[in-house]
Amino acid sequence: MKASGPVLRIAYLYPDLMNLYADRGNVTCLERRCAWRGVTPMVQHLEWNDRLTGTADLYVIGGGQDRQQQLASQGLTTSNADQILSGLGDGAAMLAVCGGYQLMAHRYRAADGAELAGLGVFDAETVHPGADVPRCIGNVVCDWNGSRLVGFENHGGRTFLGSSAMPLARVLRGHGNNAEDGTEGAVAGNAIGTYLHGSVLPKNPHLADQLIRMALARSAPDFELAPLDDAAEWAAHQAAVRAAGLR
Ligand code: GLN
Repeated sequence: MKASGPVLRIAYLYPDLMNLYADRGNVTCLERRCAWRGVTPMVQHLEWNDRLTGTADLYVIGGGQDRQQQLASQGLTTSNADQILSGLGDGAAMLAVCGGYQLMAHRYRAADGAELAGLGVFDAETVHPGADVPRCIGNVVCDWNGSRLVGFENHGGRTFLGSSAMPLARVLRGHGNNAEDGTEGAVAGNAIGTYLHGSVLPKNPHLADQLIRMALARSAPDFELAPLDDAAEWAAHQAAVRAAGLR
């Protein structure tokens, strides 16, 4: 491990609330893939009532159930919205997964009808049709600009993108945003929202590196990420493809 390169500041939002299906592994993966290239990762872990201090290069938030999302929504909108939105406006990157993705869009209507405010990073909104409607559960494979993303989804909420939103990927297997229109996730500037748990980054190393590149683009635009031996990561990726019934 070398440490002569740039620093990458990660703001990890609410890991105590928003950490379903090993979403925490996304931050571990980013830390390791940075350190292996000589990039020094600095992670700020935020409790739900903490305020962000300083600026971040990359904001990360995982998934959570409706109850946890309620607290996360309060924390985001009352304490941290301005800083996150201005950080993204200045070119920071974001990975938001499932419940966290829902909270980064305009709003989420929970299973009990409660309206949770989101930050509006993504032009999208999510409605949970109620506890008696089947959830979107299972292995997912999607097409991401000609390569694949894999992961596991489990959500009741259906997300519909607005006219100015761009989907992250196209569903090949699974439900994606809403089980209707074949879209999965959203992209807005350097922010990526997705329903993919898993954790998603360890078995999608190309997505992990894309986030690192976007996060470093301001502070170290010329820094090149050295290739890594990703044989284990791609084996895990392929296993997930097969688990979803594809080859
Ligand atoms: N509570 C949300 C839903 O069911 C998000 C779940 C999750 O993050 N896995 O739609």
